[in-house]
Amino acid sequence: MMIDRICISINNRCNLACKYCHFHEKKTSINETDMDIFKILDNVIYSIETNDIPVFKIGFVGNGEPMLDYDALKEYLLYIAEYLENGRIAAYTISNGLLLNEEMLQFFKKYNVNVGFSIDGIEAIHNKYRCGTYTKVMEKIELYKRINGHYPSMNCTVGEDILNKADETITFFKQFDNRITFSRMIGKYGISLEAFNLFLKKAAEQLYVRTGGYDCTMYGGMCGAGMNNFFYANGNVYICGNCIDMAPLGKSDMPFSQLETLKFDFDRNHCYKESLCE
Ligand code: SF4
Ligand code: SF4
Repeated sequence: MMIDRICISINNRCNLACKYCHFHEKKTSINETDMDIFKILDNVIYSIETNDIPVFKIGFVGNGEPMLDYDALKEYLLYIAEYLENGRIAAYTISNGLLLNEEMLQFFKKYNVNVGFSIDGIEAIHNKYRCGTYTKVMEKIELYKRINGHYPSMNCTVGEDILNKADETITFFKQFDNRITFSRMIGKYGISLEAFNLFLKKAAEQLYVRTGGYDCTMYGGMCGAGMNNFFYANGNVYICGNCIDMAPLGKSDMPFSQLETLKFDFDRNHCYKESLCE
């Protein structure tokens, strides 16, 4: 299958230490290796042009807070500016919001870069897991709204506390009238896939929720690892962002044509990573 989607982890550091963050659990397998991101972007452009890909999706997301390296991120986006402007590349990033300012948000708006905010719903739950940052994040969400005229898309990690306050959480997100990606908390504070899917079903009755398809079981879909979507970090390419503590598929400059020949055969109703680790 043709690759038309990648995620690039531009750094490996964060200004927060959220309680459930699996990036911190995997820190030993993540180091600050230089990665030539321009070379990856060259591969994207080459593939768009030679394979006539209508829209290639790039997520500047991964093992940390991208805004800590905003200057570098800006360079990467300017490198592909023409493609961002004509819609052949759709870029997005996800931030904890703290460092975002007006200049950054104006820049992202100009180049159609979607900025998602991580927020875990009501104040008490968000603060419990995300270092007491609720008020600050809400301020930045309002700043985004002032600049863009609508609220941003949001990412919320669902654990036991949210399951216990499902109605309050859903009511909280209703006010924004935007797209919410709920993801299942895994690791030490993890919840079962069953409990998560029940919550997701309930939320989808009232909210615009990302769900379904070959994507990731963490978001309520099937596992899309290694189909049309790969993850770059640490100078390497991996089958998915959750697999960075496993052997990489190759170096980050590996041509897409070589990646596309790899075959991953497994039951996509289950997480590839979890099925290997069971
Ligand atoms: S902001 Fe994201 S990367 Fe940083 S500690 Fe929190 S969950 Fe982890
Ligand atoms: S391997 Fe697991 S975490 Fe990665 S895309 Fe598949 S379901 Fe999601």
